[in-house]
Amino acid sequence: MKSKYEVLVIGGGPAGALAAKTAAEKGFSVCLVEKRPAIGAPVRCAEGIGKEALAEFIEPDSRWISAEMSGAGIVAPDGFEMTLESSMAGGKVGYILDRKIFDRELVWQAADAGADVYVKTRASAPIMHDGRLKGAQLECCGNVSKVMADVVIAADGVESKFGKWCGIDTTVPVREIMSSVQYVMTDIDINPHATIFYLGNEVAPEGYLWVFPKGKRAANVGIGISGRKSGKGHRAKDYLDRFVKQKFPHGKSIECIIGGVSVCRPLECTVADNLMLVGDAARVVDPLTGGGIYNAMFTGKLAAEVAADCIAKGDVSKKALMTYDREWRASKMGKSIERNYHIKEYMIKQPDEKLNAIIHSVSALDLTEFSTLTLIKELLKANPKLLIELGALAASIR
Ligand code: FAD
Repeated sequence: MKSKYEVLVIGGGPAGALAAKTAAEKGFSVCLVEKRPAIGAPVRCAEGIGKEALAEFIEPDSRWISAEMSGAGIVAPDGFEMTLESSMAGGKVGYILDRKIFDRELVWQAADAGADVYVKTRASAPIMHDGRLKGAQLECCGNVSKVMADVVIAADGVESKFGKWCGIDTTVPVREIMSSVQYVMTDIDINPHATIFYLGNEVAPEGYLWVFPKGKRAANVGIGISGRKSGKGHRAKDYLDRFVKQKFPHGKSIECIIGGVSVCRPLECTVADNLMLVGDAARVVDPLTGGGIYNAMFTGKLAAEVAADCIAKGDVSKKALMTYDREWRASKMGKSIERNYHIKEYMIKQPDEKLNAIIHSVSALDLTEFSTLTLIKELLKANPKLLIELGALAASIR
């Protein structure tokens, strides 16, 4: 490992991989460090992503696609299932990835582009001089080293510490952390081409339960509930176990993962002098769906593009790096995070009867497109009373 790079990326998830690849492709010296011994494992994800979203960054490859989705179902608290067909999305719905291979492929591409990659290497402290970030202290198998960098890109995920160490408030309120548990299940009866979401305060309070197929008789079966709803006897795992026992009594769990998803607003500022935060570390997960793979890749790539420009111009101050912060907020992704935050806040306050009414009402609509925005727009048209309940948000959607 060299002692100085132009760009140091902390974390080898989708955000870090795209940041490292982009900066390396632009000819900058890049080092990516990942604290885990292997990229992509353990998987803490239901692995769902939209086809069009993915295509912005990488050619689909059957090596890391577990299943192709052609529809989705939403199950109301009263058991009614609303179906969304692929014809509403021009045949383009989504994939369930195999992230053990997908994440590895992304980092592989970063390495091919010229980035140095070190696994089992943890950034354990920032190196500061005169109040400015100059690099990071790294630990690998008991050895400590120092790496200097013009720009550090913190892509250290939901558990991100690097930003905090550098003085950025990265705290997520407990109520906005989804406590999540997921089983990879086999030997279950499912539609292998449709994702199913279960809603309701008895099923997944302030969250949802999902079945994301991974093959003919296999799926990621998981749940996310609000941290404030979790407690002894009613933790996410208790809800999931109850569901699995009832729905898939003969299924087998071959993997169990536990993780947190932040469904708060993004950080107030995602840059500082010589520092940029991307992906989950910047809290850019979609607050309504909990989806963060696309947002991680989007912010990782954009951050590296801005970093490259700033390094070339010799100014990596917070003021110069702010271009990144402004651009992602103004992007389609940034706007949808803000909109979906309001929708999430509205939805989690609804009793089951209201959720039933909303889902029944949406299912009766003649939807021509398959997106959260279309769903909400159509719902507002059909239920003018909702306009008042949603207040300012409704105006921004119409
Ligand atoms: P991560 O993928 O978390 O990568 C961060 C990396 O940084 C990790 O590998 C970590 O080991 C490393 N790291 C942390 N600290 C350090 C350090 N100090 N030094 C070195 N390395 C460090 N999103 C979707 O789009 N679709 C889904 O279906 C979906 N389902 C989900 C289900 C669950 C249960 C959970 C928990 C999340 C889900 N998400 C989903 C969210 C998605 O997984 C994340 O948004 C995405 O992985 C974010 O990518 P990232 O690169 O920002 O962070």
